[in-house]
Amino acid sequence: MLNKLNVESVDVKGKRVLVRCDFNVPLNDKQEITDETRIVAALPTIQYLVNNGAKVILCSHMGKPKGNPVPELSLAPVAKRLSEKLGKEVVFAADDNVVGDNAKAAVAAMNEGDVVLLQNTRYRAEETKNVEAFSKELASLADLFVNDAFGTAHRAHCSNVGVTEYIKPAVAGYLIEKEIKFLGNAVNSPVRPLVAILGGSKVSSKISVIENLLKKVDKLIIGGGMAYTFFAAQGKTTGTSLLEPDYIEYAKKMLDEAGDKLVLPVDTVIAEKFDNDAPSKVVEGNIPDGWMGLDIGPKSIENFKAVLADAKTVVWNGPMGVFEMSNFAKGTNEIAALLAELDATTVIGGGDSVAAVNKAGLGDKMSHISTGGGASMEFLEGKDLPGIVALTDAE
Ligand code: ADP
Ligand code: MG
Repeated sequence: MLNKLNVESVDVKGKRVLVRCDFNVPLNDKQEITDETRIVAALPTIQYLVNNGAKVILCSHMGKPKGNPVPELSLAPVAKRLSEKLGKEVVFAADDNVVGDNAKAAVAAMNEGDVVLLQNTRYRAEETKNVEAFSKELASLADLFVNDAFGTAHRAHCSNVGVTEYIKPAVAGYLIEKEIKFLGNAVNSPVRPLVAILGGSKVSSKISVIENLLKKVDKLIIGGGMAYTFFAAQGKTTGTSLLEPDYIEYAKKMLDEAGDKLVLPVDTVIAEKFDNDAPSKVVEGNIPDGWMGLDIGPKSIENFKAVLADAKTVVWNGPMGVFEMSNFAKGTNEIAALLAELDATTVIGGGDSVAAVNKAGLGDKMSHISTGGGASMEFLEGKDLPGIVALTDAE
């Protein structure tokens, strides 16, 4: 459990409440929101505050404007979509200084239950450097602070960490609570057997996750591009597959230490080119010269399913193959379909894994889909997340 105060631990009526949300949603080149998942995920906290008579001041970053008021990264489209979702007006405080005269005037005009959205916090260069001055400006707008931005919890910025120095208490929103509950229970107090599935492109980017999870899981399944470095460690040839030669020794060490806890693919879907239309075939063991592995093969799928069959908790990070190409998406899709039916707690973390599950239309069949790619990764690495550490402890 999260040992921090939450929105229900404080009296919010009539208070100006600054809420750090994660409205970093994808936009197309017409500044239209292409995926509203993060907006929807923020609604429970906002709705609670509105219903309880708070003056709700929302803030978030979007993209990387690097300290400049980049018009394409304005939060205006978010204010509009949020109004639709809440069924009430969200006043957008357009203000290149984020906390400038416009924002101050918008806040001063608020009544109980009103909602104001500030401009992209990264319009200010201080934001990502956690500079005191901007944290104080943000804090000056409000009486209470709520952090509900799980997606940035692994960063110490003004709007999620710095500001907590100047507004107390600083409490957790419902989304942060939910993320920590699912990820935390899955990793730290799981119903067993606990099986983790790791995939994606690189061993190097997931080393800390592998190490932390190996200590906790009953089985660790490895698929995706990272499997080939383990193939090389087993003495197999890998053709032109993704391979990280510098990590072969590391993979050998993991194989020695983890023994049969580690479950690797036994066959591979290979092609001569990184192309959906390239002719492909399945091989067991060695990958021949000139061929690259792009998905796990049918025997591997069956083996993985057998391991997962009696799992009670599953954590999945990283696709099993190049799921973006339909001909190499089978491994990922079959694992997703199995998890959707499994009588277990299923937790999905990682940007591409979440995209793969949603693409398969199975998002709502999982117990929890993390909204924070980087943050969920760092959580799985066993790291403390600064955005959470900074919140006020529950007694
Ligand atoms: P996540 O975002 O879920 O943490 P990663 O970013 O680590 O996942 O990896 C996702 C990427 O890995 C995808 O773009 C996918 O195409 C790629 N990938 C998976 N298997 C392979 C493979 N066999 N060869 C090359 N790339 C792969
Ligand atoms: Mg990714």
